[in-house]
Amino acid sequence: MITLFENGIVVTLGTNNKIIWGGSIAVEGENVAGVGDTSALRKRFPKADAIDCAGKLVLPGFICSHHHFYSTMARGMSIPGQPASNFVEILERLWWRLDRALSDEDIALSAQIPLIECIRNGTTTVMDHHASPGAREGSLDLIEAAVRGAGIRASLCYEVSDRNEAGGGIEENRRFIRKTGQGDGQIAAMMGLHASFTLSDQTLEKCVGIARDAEVGCHIHVAEDAADREDAMKKHGIPTVMRLEKLGVSGRKSLFIHCVHIDKDEMDRIVATDTAVVHNPESNMNNAVGVTPLLELLKKGALVGLGTDGMASDMLAQMRCAYLLHRLANRDPRVAFVEAPQLLLQNNSEIASRQFGLRLGAIAEGHPADLAILDYRPPTPLTGDNFLGHLIFGLVDAVVDTTVCRGKILMQDKKILSLDEERISARSRELAPRMWKRL
Ligand SMILES: [Zn+2]
Repeated sequence: MITLFENGIVVTLGTNNKIIWGGSIAVEGENVAGVGDTSALRKRFPKADAIDCAGKLVLPGFICSHHHFYSTMARGMSIPGQPASNFVEILERLWWRLDRALSDEDIALSAQIPLIECIRNGTTTVMDHHASPGAREGSLDLIEAAVRGAGIRASLCYEVSDRNEAGGGIEENRRFIRKTGQGDGQIAAMMGLHASFTLSDQTLEKCVGIARDAEVGCHIHVAEDAADREDAMKKHGIPTVMRLEKLGVSGRKSLFIHCVHIDKDEMDRIVATDTAVVHNPESNMNNAVGVTPLLELLKKGALVGLGTDGMASDMLAQMRCAYLLHRLANRDPRVAFVEAPQLLLQNNSEIASRQFGLRLGAIAEGHPADLAILDYRPPTPLTGDNFLGHLIFGLVDAVVDTTVCRGKILMQDKKILSLDEERISARSRELAPRMWKRL
């Protein structure tokens, strides 16, 4: 069966970005069977079912390169006592208490809620980083089931940390990596690591060994706060990136999340080892940890992608946050107009391709059919030359109407088809206060 998404403005992205007014995309199975002018595609696929996309703009589904599904139930939670005054206190008072309190059902619901939000925002691929030391064994299977039920793609890992009994976390990763192997295009596995300052050399060596044998990358927070850098200098006499490289954590398939407090030599090593960096501007602002030297990293040739760090699942909003933050931080209204969209549209696509072995992030014949279809009637001419202006100032506020992943329609006319949103939210509202009491 072939479905034609027709009469929309198709923005293909990819190496040969085309903007096709009155364009159509033919989807067959999990892939795109054709892209082009609507009348041409109707002739080519006369028996196809048609879905009208008039008044809409079609983009490849968005990719989030760093998320924490498990953070969902923190929303609206209050913690008694003085507010945390720095990053380490935020971890100790909030996240390291919350992750311990999660039950199996909390984990499943905590994944389903952001998965609904991903579909609502046209996000079809996510790299998630999970922690639940109170319910560790099998936790990645629970998330996998939620992701498969939702219908999007996800790379999953468990956060190993010496603050907990590290062995259990290592085992959960080992088990899941072995089960997943190189992945099936929908689910991929990585070795999850918390951060340099919570991991001994011995634990890191064990984890890197497992990742190497299975040919998967490591997903780790790097120099998010100055405390991580200071810890590496004090305990190991070298900065964070150097320590991680020395222990074999760097590499083409690895994700270094944040990289706020790194120096020029560390940037050079990130580039030399072809390690991907993931920038999370909203989270960095929320935790008041500092500003990633994004423009410098890009200038040196680093592959920097974009994530939400569990703050949200809306990638266009995250992109605009990066755009605004780096203009302000550099006090320069000439920068970030090209760079912020590049993180989301090109670099996340490259990062996802390394994880899934698929060409994600472009609409092209033979490529996976992952689409975000937004309500958008451009108020000014829209061409390949001014697309970024529409993206940053218009599409960022456009509502996603239809989301397609692996050729399946997951949301149509703004109704989520793959999950029962009402039931899931109601159950989550019921369970969250019980979890809060266990903190
Ligand atoms: Zn994170």
